[in-house]
Amino acid sequence: MIDERAGAATTEEVVAELRRRSAFVMVSHVKPDGDTLGAGFGLGLALKKIGKRVHYFQQDEVPRNLRFLREAEFVSRSVPADLPADTLWVFCDMSDFSRAGEFLPPISRENMLDIDHHLGNSHFGKLNYVLPSECSTGTCVMRLLRGLDIEIDRDIATNLLATIMTDTGGFMHSNTTPDVLRLSAELMLAGADKELITEQIFANKRWPAMRLLGRAIDAAQVAHEGRYIWACIDDEMLERCGADGEDTEEIVNHLRSIEHVEVAALFKAFDGEVRVSLRSSGRVNVQSAAARLGGGGHFRASGLTFRGSVADALKAVDDALVAEGL
Ligand code: 5GP
Ligand code: MN
Repeated sequence: MIDERAGAATTEEVVAELRRRSAFVMVSHVKPDGDTLGAGFGLGLALKKIGKRVHYFQQDEVPRNLRFLREAEFVSRSVPADLPADTLWVFCDMSDFSRAGEFLPPISRENMLDIDHHLGNSHFGKLNYVLPSECSTGTCVMRLLRGLDIEIDRDIATNLLATIMTDTGGFMHSNTTPDVLRLSAELMLAGADKELITEQIFANKRWPAMRLLGRAIDAAQVAHEGRYIWACIDDEMLERCGADGEDTEEIVNHLRSIEHVEVAALFKAFDGEVRVSLRSSGRVNVQSAAARLGGGGHFRASGLTFRGSVADALKAVDDALVAEGL
């Protein structure tokens, strides 16, 4: 379903724009996941097939477990000096321009396309292809490829299936609709390597990550009669486990999977900031809770960066969750 808000673009409008331009820079969000990268790579590969020039901009390094994605080796934090004037900058899977980070050159809004499925997308582009009913940004891209009449080959299919498997948690989250399974079957028939995606994204845990998970669970605290669970990770914990920031990704999902838990929060106090990840079992809207503190995301999965101490973050997040009905 097309978002009806003012400024939302139709598939036809976006397809016409993609055909009109000669060069593209696909932009992924900071701390990239399989959706932001897979969607950009999938669309990038398709555009190359019809003779377009494509680059990939990414502020942070591609995480180890996503380097298998086709095109990952071409990602860069800088952009070529000789980009033509009609270059279109395509932002994938970000609810706001600020999610792209701090290293982009100035870009006129006229040259921005925003492709996303987040609730509360700020419609920062000239064209905003924002479809909150889609399970991933990759499935928004699938609609565009159909409109462009570009055949999905095995590499595009693997990238797009990776977006779906990332954002449905391997077909487990509530956004796994019959349509999503149909699209996934289509991608597998086109040659998507589901085994590779499963192995790389879901069965590729590093030993330090598992040690860190153990520590985080051990130190977790419950509140609100067991409906809320939170844990904190700091530099010292990372160091003791030989872990790094990438090794924290799955922890909040494990906390959420504990019986009776309605909301789980992970506070990541390292690299000089407090990052908070929130997950809901479906009753409390954690997107709204995060938005109260300058963050965003989805009903059941959101995040924010807190400016202040961990103690203040704990209090502010608790308050925001209570205000959302926890
Ligand atoms: P995670 O907890 O995995 O970092 O993020 C969960 C979801 O919330 C993702 O969909 C992500 O895009 C969104 N999200 C995380 N951090 C932020 C943030 O600081 N701002 C916004 N708008 N969304 C965020
Ligand atoms: Mn996404």
